[in-house]
Amino acid sequence: MNGLFLHCRPGFESECAAEIQAGAAELGISGYCKAKPAAAYVVFVTGSNDEAIQLHQALPFAQLIFTRQWFRLLALAKDLRIDDRISGLLEACDGIAVANEVFLETTDTNEGKELQALCRSLARPLQSALAGAKLLSDDAHAPRLHVCFMATTAAYIGVADRSNSSPFLMGIPRLRFPSSAPSRSTLKLEEAFLTFLDADERDRTLRPGMHAVDLGAAPGGWSWQLVRRGLHVIAVDNGAMAPALLDSGLLVHHREDGFRYRPEEPVDWMVCDIVEQPARIAELAARWLSEGDCRYTIFNLKLPMKKRYPEVMQCLAVVSERLEATGQPYRLACKQLYHDREEVTVFAALGD
Ligand code: SAM
Repeated sequence: MNGLFLHCRPGFESECAAEIQAGAAELGISGYCKAKPAAAYVVFVTGSNDEAIQLHQALPFAQLIFTRQWFRLLALAKDLRIDDRISGLLEACDGIAVANEVFLETTDTNEGKELQALCRSLARPLQSALAGAKLLSDDAHAPRLHVCFMATTAAYIGVADRSNSSPFLMGIPRLRFPSSAPSRSTLKLEEAFLTFLDADERDRTLRPGMHAVDLGAAPGGWSWQLVRRGLHVIAVDNGAMAPALLDSGLLVHHREDGFRYRPEEPVDWMVCDIVEQPARIAELAARWLSEGDCRYTIFNLKLPMKKRYPEVMQCLAVVSERLEATGQPYRLACKQLYHDREEVTVFAALGD
């Protein structure tokens, strides 16, 4: 099999297809996508196996916005015997992969959910069978083996470089909703911190005593994440904030328009979850960074119904153009997180 398997949010297959096609084209690799609406995955077929290898190695996973997880296809194991799927899987893997770890997965669909119990039941036996067949390795650089069940008797098999893919099964971090957080949105910011910053960067950029502004803060799920880490937060929203946040002593509430508010002193972070035209939010964030009001920002772009991929690319182009003009180094990354719905999350930072 020549190609890549890409997991995405159901309903975003055409955006996922568009971005892998664009990424491949940049590298001079041609191919075509097989995608079905709401299937939560895309298969990108390349002309040769070498092209699939090159694409999977040269395209940074972090550059992909709508792709939650990906692996390079090795085989499609079909007609697995329901009383002995392991033998069929082992046969399909033999001679093609020695892996450091194994992900047994499905697609993020209702059909996929029905297959999750099967995956759980096969995890240990498959691990032992692979070890017995000397297909598992301690080498930290060995790839991760992906076995993605599409039906009870069929699974795509592939490999991913662990340093160029999501560390999470199906690209979905399992985050527990903190009972004291005022809204479920809190998980979006937590996932964003996990996605865009490594552990060292989180320690360095989210230190107690730092200052943040949360635009469109009510009822306070995002502020809660910042306050929990000991940051001082200015929450800007006409809506009411959760009383516990106000009592924390770390949060001040300004009932103001987030598009007009500017901090008296520069802050470390500006986060923004205002529901508005994406271009307006991108412009706002670009202004905060380029005019020195903050060093780091995370903001959500609520996507329109149509032309979602070009809209996101246009917004990112606006931000990067403004940051480029400062002459300083910057980082810009965008991802449709698991906890995002019809939206994507952007991280931008100016300076070293
Ligand atoms: N991040 C919040 C949380 O975790 O609880 C949820 C934010 S909610 C999706 C969007 C918020 O943006 C609403 O509370 C709304 O009042 C606020 N909002 C909308 N337009 C605004 C504006 N121009 N300035 C400030 N806040 C605004």
